[in-house]
Amino acid sequence: MSRLNRRQFSKAVGASAVAASFGSIAYAQGKGKVVVIGGGAGGATAAHLIKKGAPNLDVTLVEVNPQYTTCFFSNLYLGGFRTFDSLTHTYDGLKNLGVNVIHDMATGVDNAGKTVSLKSGSKLSYDKLVLSPGIDFKWNAIEGYDQSATEKMPHAYKAGAQTKILKGQLEAMRDGGTVVMAPPPNPFRCPPGPYERASMIAHYLKTNKPKSKLIIMDPKPKFSKMALFQEGWETHYNDIIEWIGPDFTDGGVKKVDVAGMSVTTGDGETTKADVINIIPAQKAGAIAHAAGCTDGDWCPINPADFSSAKVKDVYVLGDASVAKSMPKSGFSANSQAKVVANAVQAELAGKKKFPARYRNTCWSLISPDNGVKVGASYKAGEKAVDVASKFISKPGEDNALRSQTYQESLGWYSAITSEMFAKG
Ligand SMILES: Cc1cc2nc3c(=O)[nH]c(=O)nc-3n(C[C@H](O)[C@H](O)[C@H](O)COP(=O)(O)OP(=O)(O)OC[C@H]3O[C@@H](n4cnc5c(N)ncnc54)[C@H](O)[C@@H]3O)c2cc1C
Repeated sequence: MSRLNRRQFSKAVGASAVAASFGSIAYAQGKGKVVVIGGGAGGATAAHLIKKGAPNLDVTLVEVNPQYTTCFFSNLYLGGFRTFDSLTHTYDGLKNLGVNVIHDMATGVDNAGKTVSLKSGSKLSYDKLVLSPGIDFKWNAIEGYDQSATEKMPHAYKAGAQTKILKGQLEAMRDGGTVVMAPPPNPFRCPPGPYERASMIAHYLKTNKPKSKLIIMDPKPKFSKMALFQEGWETHYNDIIEWIGPDFTDGGVKKVDVAGMSVTTGDGETTKADVINIIPAQKAGAIAHAAGCTDGDWCPINPADFSSAKVKDVYVLGDASVAKSMPKSGFSANSQAKVVANAVQAELAGKKKFPARYRNTCWSLISPDNGVKVGASYKAGEKAVDVASKFISKPGEDNALRSQTYQESLGWYSAITSEMFAKG
């Protein structure tokens, strides 16, 4: 309905409709309040694009940490290809744009009153709420692996201090030591992430501690880009990486002994190791559960705009959402954020709403200058985000193509972090 039509409609049907139409007119002038929870790949992009496209909207970003360290390329830091500093970004660009950035923990959402409670005790009201809190872990899904275990057996699957612990342990390990990695069960953030990590750890071991081993005890029989990784491991890390599928261990790692630095698999076998990287099973970040957006572990959404299928005026994007065929990745979260930003601007600032188009590409570095990728474009189906077209690197590609693929990934990192943090 146009603004003119709304006015005519109000006149015709009386006072309550007039009140409702005032709200709409205020929205059309772009004066609504948007609260975004989570300043990562999804939330930072959404806050940036909403504010940029509709400067009159009051946009608040709630992010618990003062800086954001990207999980993407954190494996390259483990391999020695990136510095830690190059992965860490501030929120200054978003602040300069006029986004109200609050470093606090969102602890609750009152859907009826449309407010968000913060740990500090204050409350924020919203017209539209955008949730992009990422993941939380299912502690004790592997017996003995709880939050306190992460100091000695890092997951390094939320980047930052955990990534540094894992890197420090690899550096401190003797040559001839054993690293054990337990990848998570599906679904989890970044399906190729554990296997790129294995490649990067193996590269570090090969160049620094060549007598060492990396044993991957997987609970899954198949994984993303499996043929490409296995080809790369055979060519570059044949003496270092051993991948063990669930058939040989009866389901992978079931128990850890943190003090004894060992893991026990489903078949009862115990393996001691010098470095143990457990990547636990995952679920949507806690605030998505508190907001009533979850169905089980994750948040169902409407594929046309990532609005919550459960709660009105709330959007859920990124890892926390159920995007079905679209993997949980930074690229996906950033792509979803563009659609959410458009939807919010259409609702609150009278902008045109475009049909949703989504994209994803996941690059992985296997060895120096040897990048591979998998990706797809998507459209909104009736019930799910559907694949429109897809692509994947092929085994046996020449060095020039692999080098070009790696270069593409560097360009992507720079582009996504510029867009997330409104740089330049
Ligand atoms: C090792 C590894 C490698 C990866 N590599 C790639 C890659 O190459 N390409 C790619 O596309 N993706 C990659 N990913 C995946 C990518 O990091 C995630 O999919 C992406 O970050 C998801 O974005 P998000 O916005 O959902 O969550 P996040 O980016 O995790 O952002 C969530 C933010 O919300 C904040 N938060 C959570 N709850 C609250 C709360 N209650 N109050 C305030 N703040 C809160 C958190 O502090 C965090 O900053 C990788 C992941 C890992 C672990």
